[in-house]
Amino acid sequence: MTDALPKSLLNGAIVPVVDARISPLDRGFLFGDGIYEVVPVYAGKPLRPDAHFDRLQDGLTALEIANPYSRTRWAALLRELIAANGGGDMGVYLEVSRGAGKGRDFLPESDMQPTVFGFCFRLAPPRPELLARGISAATLEDIRWQRCDIKSVALVGPVMLKIEAKRLGADEAILVRGERLAEGSSSAVFVVKDGRIATPPASHERLPSITRGVVGDVLDALGLPLDVREVGRDELLTADEIWIASSTREALPVTVLDGKAVGQGRPGSIWRRVFEEFQALKQREAG
Ligand code: PLP
Repeated sequence: MTDALPKSLLNGAIVPVVDARISPLDRGFLFGDGIYEVVPVYAGKPLRPDAHFDRLQDGLTALEIANPYSRTRWAALLRELIAANGGGDMGVYLEVSRGAGKGRDFLPESDMQPTVFGFCFRLAPPRPELLARGISAATLEDIRWQRCDIKSVALVGPVMLKIEAKRLGADEAILVRGERLAEGSSSAVFVVKDGRIATPPASHERLPSITRGVVGDVLDALGLPLDVREVGRDELLTADEIWIASSTREALPVTVLDGKAVGQGRPGSIWRRVFEEFQALKQREAG
């Protein structure tokens, strides 16, 4: 599903992805020393690109990597990459690593040139059977680090968690820290109980999800209040509805958690309204 489309971005140039080469001494490869973004694109138009560029900048600032491009240049490169791959609906992966050093010192050299790589992949609308049935999730203890607000390319924690979730027969891992909901292994999480919708606040334990913001706007448009507050593990386990949200999956209903039905075991009525309004927002903003 995320197979690369033919054209990629490498250090400012559009090149065939099969020809894109970086040094094995690149610190993204050796240390996971870099930041990435995934931008959803609908009908050739990125959804909320500025929010993604802002978060990219925040990550680079946290890692003390100089952003190689201005906002205008980033926007132009994104347009070029999308056009080179024929437009339509796609996800765009962008990565900025600290670049290649002379060897493998933990401390970066002072004159490093960041490496910029980007590629695209097809973004299919959620399959109808998935929308009819929902997805399954497993709760797992969050084994990641203390700076989950940084969208770092060092993703071995979520990789391990996704493998464990799959072993348990689940499509996504919903992470808890003790008795508190953290987030999905690659998604924001919303819970609904007795008609009230809640999602945990921004913190170092969570990525500031752009889609979470989109869902917030969708709820506003629907006139549905959203409680932004810590959510207990017990609330997760007894929720009427659970949704996960991310740039590549929009908002999806979780209907099975730890092998048990969530609510009625079917996508909930509030999620359905959110889904429909989400499609309308996409059309308005990027379609
Ligand atoms: N949380 C984590 C850990 C993620 O990896 C992601 C996306 O990959 C998200 C949340 C959702 O973020 P966004 O909505 O910006 O895609």
